[in-house]
Amino acid sequence: MDAKALIVLVTLVELAFGLIKQKLADRQRRLPLPPEVADVYDADRYRRYLEYVAEHKKLGLAESAVSLLILLGLLYAGIYPGIERSCGGNPYLILLATFGLFRAAEILPEIAFSWYDTFRIEEKYGFNKMDGKEFARHTALSILSEAVLSLSLLLLFAFVGEHLPQWTDGFSLAPGRVVLLVAGIAALTAAAVLLLSLFSLFILKRQYHFTPFPEGGLKDKIMALQEGSRKKVRILNVYDESRKSTAKNAFLLKLLWHREFGIADNFLTQNADRELLAVLSHEIGHLKHRKNALDFLRYAAIGLAIALFALLLRHPSPVLCLTAWTRESFGIAKNNYVLLTEVLGAVLTPAGFAAGLIGNYRSRREEYEADREAVKNGYGEELIATFKRISSDELVNVNPHPAIEFLDYDHPGMANRIRAIRSAAAQAAPQQDAD
Ligand SMILES: [Zn+2]
Repeated sequence: MDAKALIVLVTLVELAFGLIKQKLADRQRRLPLPPEVADVYDADRYRRYLEYVAEHKKLGLAESAVSLLILLGLLYAGIYPGIERSCGGNPYLILLATFGLFRAAEILPEIAFSWYDTFRIEEKYGFNKMDGKEFARHTALSILSEAVLSLSLLLLFAFVGEHLPQWTDGFSLAPGRVVLLVAGIAALTAAAVLLLSLFSLFILKRQYHFTPFPEGGLKDKIMALQEGSRKKVRILNVYDESRKSTAKNAFLLKLLWHREFGIADNFLTQNADRELLAVLSHEIGHLKHRKNALDFLRYAAIGLAIALFALLLRHPSPVLCLTAWTRESFGIAKNNYVLLTEVLGAVLTPAGFAAGLIGNYRSRREEYEADREAVKNGYGEELIATFKRISSDELVNVNPHPAIEFLDYDHPGMANRIRAIRSAAAQAAPQQDAD
């Protein structure tokens, strides 16, 4: 099998897997809602929800079909030897040209689907608040930031890849020097990630307008929620989500020592104070997170990956095989780092799948943990009320299939989440009586 066939195979398996999950979801939707979420929708609103899901399902299928066709076109177009020649064999120019080609092929369908989603579906259900101009601005900024992010990482990848033979004296460094080199590459990567996070923050602040949370009683209550937390958030901002959509959200933004709360203005104008305090208690619960076995598992996995990388610097034959196989499959003489990333992505799909499963499980556990903080502050019922209202307002799936929740959800499904909040509240209640 050549590398192109492997990429196609992996994509087809993923598509088939997606269709199976679709079938499970269809079956799940025919079941009655569990008691925890039975009152989220009335009959009319539930019908509306089903229509909304059906429209997105059709759009999703069309998107998958189009991206499969584009992928096939890009893989089998046979243009890579030509690109290599016209770039004079320069790996960075080859990277830029190939990246440009991929983006050129993908960008128009991407914008078209996003336009359809925003102005045909979201608009119809009353969610969209963007006009054409705002959509263009928002889309341009997203495309720009994505391009800068991927290009920077690709260029870093190419830079390291091109210099490794030289840095390692032809892969023959003494173990002590290998450790130094790995530390150097890790520092370089960390610096790049930091710069890119700053850039993402910069773009976010262009896409949304942030204003300080109004001074007063509500802000004082939010600050009081943070008592007893080692990590405190002193910057509270409101952002103008209402200019784009009706979504209500609050998030915690972290970058090194910088922390700020972003609260959607939709939340402030439409939700009661106690519900906002419930949601922010949850966010503060994330800050109070205690490290558990899963966190250490993650550190161990990162350590293992670094050790594996170090080992490959001494014994590079698997990597050299993979790069040679990629060049042969595409009929090229030099490394094309865009194609190499695609091949690597396909080869590492099982590992990525496993990491995703564990990551989602870990994330769901942390959501339950953060919900318990809201319960502890006495906002359990408000949190439930907020979840229910947001679910109905935003037509959320409140009863995902258990297998899909397990595989794909990084937040617990609504029924499980409400059940857990109620049981935490029941456990907390006797203690409060004793006080
Ligand atoms: Zn959370």
